[in-house]
Amino acid sequence: MTTPSQPMLPYGRAVIDEDDIAAVAQVLRTGTLTDGPTVEAFEQALAEATGAAEAVTASSGTTALHLVTLALDLKPGDQVIVPTVTFLATANAARYVGADVVFADADPNTGLMTPENFEEALTRARKGAVKAVAPVHLSGQCCDMPRIAEIADRHGITVFEDACHALGGTYPLNETVPVGSYKGSAAAVFSFHPIKAITTGEGGAITTNDRELAATMRRLRGHGMEKPPSHPALADFATAADGKVNPWIYQMRELGWNFRASDIHCALGLSQIKKLKSHIARRAELVAYYDKLIKPLAPTIRHQGRVGGNPGWHTYNILIDFPKLGMDRSALVKKLAAENIGAGVQYMPVHLQPYYQDLYGRAHLPGAEAYYGKCLCLPLYPDLTAGDVERVVATLKKVTGL
Ligand SMILES: *Cc1c(COP(=O)(O)O)cnc(C)c1O
Repeated sequence: MTTPSQPMLPYGRAVIDEDDIAAVAQVLRTGTLTDGPTVEAFEQALAEATGAAEAVTASSGTTALHLVTLALDLKPGDQVIVPTVTFLATANAARYVGADVVFADADPNTGLMTPENFEEALTRARKGAVKAVAPVHLSGQCCDMPRIAEIADRHGITVFEDACHALGGTYPLNETVPVGSYKGSAAAVFSFHPIKAITTGEGGAITTNDRELAATMRRLRGHGMEKPPSHPALADFATAADGKVNPWIYQMRELGWNFRASDIHCALGLSQIKKLKSHIARRAELVAYYDKLIKPLAPTIRHQGRVGGNPGWHTYNILIDFPKLGMDRSALVKKLAAENIGAGVQYMPVHLQPYYQDLYGRAHLPGAEAYYGKCLCLPLYPDLTAGDVERVVATLKKVTGL
């Protein structure tokens, strides 16, 4: 029955075309490989795509998150509420600046942090210590931002979104607002890792409506360097006898990093973002087709709970009642792999990681753990065909006997 010639379908992958390749080659020919106009052009395109006032690129989604925790001046003694159903980087970004993480539970049906999960996490936090909350738009579906922002506002907490899964989508309650421009949050973070909506190889960005925050993040991603110098400590060095500022002088008033994305990365991003709309539309079509084919497998297998809006679908997640199926996830993943179908699991809750258990002990977050117990990501990317979707579901039926 197994036909070894069937191509491998990973659960996510980048789609690179000849235009992308030509765009990168073109930048290589200009000789301006970093700090050049392609970085600015990509930032401009990102701001336009998300409707945000500013976009700041970074070397990865992780360094973009780090820039946000730095720019928000989070520090030791502060706490940040982070949903436990996320990639490691959301929580780690708080740790990079010495702040502590309070993990929030998730809705067992969607995997998203609900406003109730946020409020429950606040009851476990130290009074007055929570400075920020980082909702994660898991698999492209957005958290309930208006209610989360309202709770945050009441407690004097800053909101920043981990929108790494959600580029190109809109929020559920206001389908005209693109993800990345929500007025109730300080910033939204995106990743351009190859399995995300658009790729730069490695790369990330922050969108914000706060121009001052954007300027701080641009400074911090480049060693904290500023020109021309303004600090009185540099008065003796800064100017020539004619009173003009010496061209080589820059100042550093605070510790910065090198978290820049190069013009090579941004050339790929600029080419990719032209296809964002069509790729997101294609992902939505594939999700609808999966939904139709998966439906008869209920209640043992169903799609992850839906919140509405127009998600920029990142993964196609199903929830499986493994006890009912009489098969565990390892066995299922292995059987799918034997048929050249890659399945992902997003995510093992971060609070279960040894690093975080060592820091904070073994927390019990039942909604997140229930979600984790059921979830599986099936292949989803723009050049997946309808025939591929049929093959995935047919294989799922075959190996589960449903
Ligand atoms: C991909 C991802 C990140 C990190 O992005 P990198 O570009 O891989 O550093 C952070 N958070 C979430 C939810 C992600 O999916």
